[in-house]
Amino acid sequence: MKNIEIIFDGHNDLLLRLWMAKDHNGKSFIQSSRVKDKDGHLDVESAKKGGFAGGFFAIFSPSPGNWLSTDRVDTSKAKNVADEMLSIATTMATENPSIFSIVLNYDDILSAIENKRIACILHFEGAEMIEGDLSNLEHFFELGVRSIGPVWSRPNAFGHGVPFGFPGSPNQGQGLTDAGKNLIRECNELGILIDLSHLNEAGFWDVSKISTKPLVATHSNAYELCESPRNLTKDQLAAIRDTGGIVGLNFATGFLRKDGIKDPNTKYEIISHLELLMNALGDEKVALGSDFDGAIIPSFIGNCAGLPNLVQLMKDSGYPEELIKRICSKNWLDFLSKNF
Ligand code: ZN
Repeated sequence: MKNIEIIFDGHNDLLLRLWMAKDHNGKSFIQSSRVKDKDGHLDVESAKKGGFAGGFFAIFSPSPGNWLSTDRVDTSKAKNVADEMLSIATTMATENPSIFSIVLNYDDILSAIENKRIACILHFEGAEMIEGDLSNLEHFFELGVRSIGPVWSRPNAFGHGVPFGFPGSPNQGQGLTDAGKNLIRECNELGILIDLSHLNEAGFWDVSKISTKPLVATHSNAYELCESPRNLTKDQLAAIRDTGGIVGLNFATGFLRKDGIKDPNTKYEIISHLELLMNALGDEKVALGSDFDGAIIPSFIGNCAGLPNLVQLMKDSGYPEELIKRICSKNWLDFLSKNF
């Protein structure tokens, strides 16, 4: 059998999908029974086929109404949702220890990959579940959370997320609040990674001033090629490079295409973004951040079983094997070996 390239991924929304489906023990993921769920991108069988070895699994509390709404969410609701999604993840890990692992440090990641278990880094996408005085931050650390994006695309007690309107600048809204600045310091202290995807530019620059760690955007693309507020400008990419940070390429078609349209018929834009990101950051600091289960992704990938098609696209574009390995897993793993 041909060797399948291992993929380590910066972002997925599996836990949100399972939570919305009221699949409290993740059965549909473990048993790959996504029959009626056409939009599902991630399950164990497809992960095996695609070489998906793990990555950042988001815990996200949707706004009231529809989940793409950007209205504020209150802390008590977000805490309940976070508890429920954490419970899904821990239940999956407890009931299926040979399949799925919550990883707390770099050694855990290596051991999971070696034993062919899916490695799950628990990530908060938007910190609404954290009290403004940070009194429950350590509690969530104890429960295994090792990565936090202070905001999703909406305002909260910590800062302002970028809205989705296209075209639009990431430079909308004010910087971090005092609570947001404290959150960055505390996360540095505890060893929780800070994710800048979804944060507006003023907040981004605040983090760059405060944080003692390399800057990370787990699932964002290049603004120069797609003028979505969710993408990173030249100056932001330079700042990430200067700190030894990393960017995960987002497969969301709306963040890839010049016209911002969520059109599954999108392919070569991925290579254009990879090229630009590598020029800006260097070959060692560009990785993947699929947004599986959270976005409309190119149909040539389809779901995580289609990851080898992305590898093939890189091959067809003349990328040497070593570079493909870097983008697919080595860059994230090297980064996490020093910062996780
Ligand atoms: Zn996201």
